[in-house]
Amino acid sequence: MSSHTGRHFLQIPGPTNVPDRVLRAMSLPTIDHRGPEFGALGQSVLAGIKRIFKTTKPVLIFSGSGTGASEAALVNTLSPGDRVLMFETGHFANLWAELAKRLGLDVEMIPGDWRGGVDANQLESILAQDQGQQIKAVAVVHNETSTGVTSNIQAARTAMDQTGHPALFLVDTISSLGSIKYCHEEWQVDVTVGGSQKGLMLPPGLGFNAISEKALAASDTATLPRSYWDWKAMLAPNQDGFFPYTPATNLLYGLREAIEMLEEEGLDQVFARHDRLAEATRRTVRAWGLEIQCRHENEQSSSLTAIRMPDGTGANALRKIISEQYDMSLGTGLAKLADQVFRIGHLGHFNELMLTGTLCGVEMGLTLAQTPFKPGGIVAALDYLSETATATRT
Ligand code: PLP
Repeated sequence: MSSHTGRHFLQIPGPTNVPDRVLRAMSLPTIDHRGPEFGALGQSVLAGIKRIFKTTKPVLIFSGSGTGASEAALVNTLSPGDRVLMFETGHFANLWAELAKRLGLDVEMIPGDWRGGVDANQLESILAQDQGQQIKAVAVVHNETSTGVTSNIQAARTAMDQTGHPALFLVDTISSLGSIKYCHEEWQVDVTVGGSQKGLMLPPGLGFNAISEKALAASDTATLPRSYWDWKAMLAPNQDGFFPYTPATNLLYGLREAIEMLEEEGLDQVFARHDRLAEATRRTVRAWGLEIQCRHENEQSSSLTAIRMPDGTGANALRKIISEQYDMSLGTGLAKLADQVFRIGHLGHFNELMLTGTLCGVEMGLTLAQTPFKPGGIVAALDYLSETATATRT
């Protein structure tokens, strides 16, 4: 292992860089999780996280990874054999589908080529044809982290409304929450799944379910077995800021701080910052003469960019060179995209110089790896960032 100086560049699309403020907040002494001080912490984060999901209805916070929260969304709302409609946007859509199948759900997966998002027209026609209303839930990934594709959730909701179909709407926002605009309540999503380790700038370890009244009502009749993930067991003690089991106290300290940071910046500014840094990234990728995995410009993700290797291979060798020489981690190609793409995470606690450092590292790595590309593409990002800078000369 070569030794490195300075900070490691963690530019995978999550877990993301944890701000020093959040690290310091998490270093507070762990307190009695049944005592009054904890109740105040619990109430503060349970109220704050609603503002991040943009909802006035309950948000449940589980100790667990995002996958746990994805399971919680299903087991609280559905019964064995229920049909669930899903869209194959990439690896994470597939993982959710596999999880659903293992729970005994009847998954109808609409195939996709991993280069685009959910097709709202297709969703509308499938629901319109489901005369017997066999489909009990539509489950989609907002931001597909394996491909860098963001699906239009509002368009999907509108498609569902056009048909008047009563299916529940479940959305995974694990790599979009706190990075890309998302409105749980206004977009009438029934369960939104989130995780702590991406836009929320925390270490891994918390999973979220934002729920609607319709989802809560569904949980009264849903019969899939559930215990740890049971919403009802959680909602009662949550009223006073407490949890039915030992919560991840120090992650909650971090969450309180992260929510404060996001609100100090303002969520709209947070989203605009991500949009701008993503656009700068794409300009450089295009100037390098490389191809972005997401085909449609209006679906290109603001939290990460997946880049195709020009010869269709060599992404792992490139990532290895960049890691060894420049101490930067880039996202690997997942499942069928292994070695074909590498992913740049540009989300969370991130700014212009972190981005330009990242892009310089990639450009230098492409040269070292002898990848066929046009050097100098970094200038496209620099130009765009200067053109769109807000500081003015006084
Ligand atoms: N869904 C999406 C979109 C993800 O990006 C991830 C993880 O990266 C997951 C689900 C799984 O979350 P976790 O690894 O926290 O269980």
